[in-house]
Amino acid sequence: MSERPELSVVIPAFNEQDNVEPMAERLVAALEGVVDGLEVLFVDDGSSDATWERVAELARRDPRVRGIRFARNFGHQAAVTAGVDAARGTAVVIIDADLQDPPEVIPELVARWREGYEVVYAQREHREGETAFKKATAAAFYRILRAITNVDIPVDTGDFRLMGPDALAAFRALPERNRFIRGLVSWVGFPQAAVRYQRHARHAGETKYPLRKMVRFAVDGITSFSFLPLRLATWTGFGVSLLAFLYILVVITLKILGINWPGYTSLMAAILFLGGVQLIMIGILGEYLGRVFDEVKRRPLYLVRDSTDRSVGVVPPARPVT
Ligand code: UDP
Ligand code: MG
Repeated sequence: MSERPELSVVIPAFNEQDNVEPMAERLVAALEGVVDGLEVLFVDDGSSDATWERVAELARRDPRVRGIRFARNFGHQAAVTAGVDAARGTAVVIIDADLQDPPEVIPELVARWREGYEVVYAQREHREGETAFKKATAAAFYRILRAITNVDIPVDTGDFRLMGPDALAAFRALPERNRFIRGLVSWVGFPQAAVRYQRHARHAGETKYPLRKMVRFAVDGITSFSFLPLRLATWTGFGVSLLAFLYILVVITLKILGINWPGYTSLMAAILFLGGVQLIMIGILGEYLGRVFDEVKRRPLYLVRDSTDRSVGVVPPARPVT
């Protein structure tokens, strides 16, 4: 194998023991002869099943396969970041381990990259084997995100994408802890192109994104790319003040006219409404503050327990301090 493969495929895997081998097989089958040197890089995100053993076994048999093992579960986005940090290829493709995104699409991504696109993202035309709820919430999320951010984040696009060397250099330099990768890759710019594909059902195992993680992920995406929720507080403030002013005029006029208007109901309504609105706004402020706190602590994004070729250090490479 040449020192620098043309393509690295980064695969975050959390309890995906039955997907490791089929994934590697299909990748090799799809890319053999298409690229000049291939690296298949699994990142085991603290799995409790045999994912790591399968990866290590594959790596012993096939020099194209490498693996990184996290010290614990650091999350999908950290796993992708670790893979991109360690990848040796000129270009990198990110793909989920569960074979929902078919490896056979990768040659198309590579072809567009060779045409001169620095980022080629794969856009889902159709998704199979996911609940109606997941599809509906995902579709709504991508559209809301797009509407409220000033970064051009494509709809219905996950992390399945190819990055060329310039986009990689930019991506590797991003210092933030809260990593909403599909947003960050759009943020770096460069010529970007889309390839449409059909998303399949999971090959084995079940989703590692329960509702709780999905909500967290959505909030991460919105807060890392938009101040709109904060502005909402200002707008609501103006709106409520205006209404209050009009209401005060009415109340004073009634008083002058000598009309007595018992006020328990309106009083309670006003107190509870304002109390609720204020708590929501404090909550939104808290979401941003918590993320600022996270950034300021500057803890490493992930810690590495092991790697198949012992080439990856425990602590990730330093990113520029901004
Ligand atoms: N994943 C991970 N760490 C986690 C959760 C998920 O590395 O904490 C990986 C998982 O193994 C898979 C990818 O992220 O390769 C996407 O997860 P999943 O397929 O469960 O998400 P879904 O497709 O259901 O949204
Ligand atoms: Mg999946």
